[in-house]
Amino acid sequence: MGKLKTIGTSGFERKNFLRIIFVVLSALFVNNLVYYTGGTNGAWAQLNIFLIVMAAYYWGVKGSVLLSIILGIITGPFMPLDVTNDIMQSTYNWMFRLFIYVFLGVLIGYLLTRNKKLNEDIKQKDSVTRLYNTNRLLNDLDKRIKNKEEFCVIFINIANLEEISKYVSYDIVDKIMYNGINELKKTFCDSFIYSASFKEYIVSLNGYDYEEAVNRVNECFDKLYKSMKANGYSIRLVTKVGIACCSDEDNKGVNIYNKARIAADQGDKDESGVYIYDKVFEKNERLLNEVAGSLPDAINNDEFNVVYQPIVNIKNSSIIGAETLLRWDRGDREKVGPDIFIDVAERIGLITKVSIWVVEHSVNQIVEWKKLGLNLKFSINVTSQEILDESFRSWAIEFVKNNNLDERDLSIEITERVFSTDEDKLISILNDLRSQGFSVSIDDFGTGYNSLITIGNIPSDVIKIDKYFMDKIDKMGIRLLVKYIIEASHEIGKVVIAEGVETKAQMELLKSYGCDMIQGYYFSKPLSPEDFLKYYNNFKGEDYGI
Ligand code: C2E
Ligand code: CA
Repeated sequence: MGKLKTIGTSGFERKNFLRIIFVVLSALFVNNLVYYTGGTNGAWAQLNIFLIVMAAYYWGVKGSVLLSIILGIITGPFMPLDVTNDIMQSTYNWMFRLFIYVFLGVLIGYLLTRNKKLNEDIKQKDSVTRLYNTNRLLNDLDKRIKNKEEFCVIFINIANLEEISKYVSYDIVDKIMYNGINELKKTFCDSFIYSASFKEYIVSLNGYDYEEAVNRVNECFDKLYKSMKANGYSIRLVTKVGIACCSDEDNKGVNIYNKARIAADQGDKDESGVYIYDKVFEKNERLLNEVAGSLPDAINNDEFNVVYQPIVNIKNSSIIGAETLLRWDRGDREKVGPDIFIDVAERIGLITKVSIWVVEHSVNQIVEWKKLGLNLKFSINVTSQEILDESFRSWAIEFVKNNNLDERDLSIEITERVFSTDEDKLISILNDLRSQGFSVSIDDFGTGYNSLITIGNIPSDVIKIDKYFMDKIDKMGIRLLVKYIIEASHEIGKVVIAEGVETKAQMELLKSYGCDMIQGYYFSKPLSPEDFLKYYNNFKGEDYGI
C-alpha cells in the first residue's frame, strides 16, 4: 500500500513539474515574440490570455492569478511599447493590462474550478437519490482510516424494495425512498449518508461503539424501515441492517464497507433485523462462496467418492445393506460435508449433475458386489428437487434397468422436510416408484414437518428415526416417543431403522423396543468400498452383543 502511495504521489509531482515547465517555456516564447515583433504595440501580447486559461485549468484561481501577475509585470514596466523607436509604455497602460490579466485569472480560475467541482459531484453522487455514491464513500473511508479516526459503517438494505417496485407505481417507491432518506438525515445529522442504489444506504458514524450504533439505528428503524405509509398504502418493508466498526485489521475503506454488507446478510432473508459484523459468519459465507465456485470442477476432476455405512438388522444379526453417502476430497482445502455442499449444489443448479454422478457410481459398485454374491439393499439419498424432476427420475430408472439391477436392491431416501412442499405430487411420485419395486425410506423422521401426518399419509416402506432422538434418549420423554414411533410404524407395516446409534446402551434399549435395524457409529462409520467389503465379510453379531 505504502509503495502504491509513493508511486501515486511522485506521478502527480512529475506531471505538475512538466506543466510548470510547459507554462514557463510558453510564457518565455510569447513574451520574446512580443519583444522581437516590436513591443506591446503589436497583437502578440494577447497570447498571454491563453497561458492564463491554461494556468486556471491546471491550478485553479490561485495559479491563474499568480501567473496573471507575473505576465502583467513581464509585459509591464520592462516591455517597450515600440522597440524600434524605443518608446516605453505609460504606467497607466501596463497597469490596466495587469488589472485585466488578474481579472481574467480570477474569473476563468473560478469558472473552471466550479465546473470541475460540478463534474466531480456528478461522478460522486448517485443519480437517483442525489446522495454521495460508493466512489465517494470509499474515498472518505480511506481518508478516515489514514487519519486513524474511530468510526463505524452502517449498511441499510431495503431488501424487498425492488420487488415492491414491480407492483406499485413509481411515486410510491419514490416516497418510500425520500421518507427514508429524510429520516436517516434526521437521525444521523452528525454523519455522512451515502447510497449505493435506491434501496441501499450507508452511514459513516463517528465513534467506535457497536451499542451506540445499534441504538441509533433502532431509533429510526421502528418509524421507518419496518413498514411505511405511502399514498394510503401501508407497505411492509424488509430492511436488513449491518454494522461494522473499523478495527486495526481494516487498512482499506472497502474492507470495512464489505464487512457491514456481510453483516446485513445475517438472519432470516424475509425478516427485518439489525446485525453487527461477525467473523464466524463471514468465514462461513466465504466458505460457501468458495464451495459454489469449485463444485463444477469437483465433478469434472473426479474429486467425489461414495462411502457406504452398514445397516444392521438387530433381529437376525446380519448386515442387510448400506446407505450411500457422498464425500468430496478437497485436498488441502477446508473439509466440507455433504450436508453443506449438497445444499449449495441445489442452490446453484448443479444438483442434477451431482445426483447423476452418485447414482452412476453407486449402481456400478452395487453391480460389482452382486457379482461377488452380496445381496444387499442400498439406499440412496435424493433431494426434493430431484424427486420432483421427471427427467432425472426416468434417467435413473433407465440406468438401473440397463445395469440389470433389481429395483428391490435399491431404496430411495427422502427427508421428511420434503413434504412441506407439493405433498400431493410427491405422494403420486412415491406411489409410482414403489409400484415399480423401489422401496422408499423417510429420512430424518421426527425432526421435520408434521411427522404424525407423514407416517400415516406418505407412501413409504421404511422410517429412519433421526439421530436427534438417539442423542437425547436418556430423557424419559424422548425414550417414550421413540418407543411409540417404533410401535406405531410397525402397526402400519413399516420397517424402522434407528440412525446415529453410537453406544451399546442405545442399541440394547432400541432392541428392547423392537426396533428392526440400526445404522450408526456403534457398528461402523461410513466406509470406502474396499473397507465395506472387509467389514461385511468379517461381521459377527456377537461382537456387538446382538
Ligand atoms: P443423512 O441422510 O441423515 O445421513 C446420515 C448422516 O449421519 C451421515 O452424515 C452419516 O455419516 C451420519 N452418521 C451416521 N451414523 C452416525 C453416528 O452414529 N454418529 C454421528 N455423529 N453421525 C452419524 P454425512 O455423510 O455427513 O451426510 C450428511 C447428509 O448429507 C446426509 O444426511 C444426507 O442428507 C446428505 N447426503 C449425503 N450424501 C448424499 C448424496 O449422495 N445425495 C444427497 N442428496 N444427499 C446426501
Ligand atoms: Ca439419509
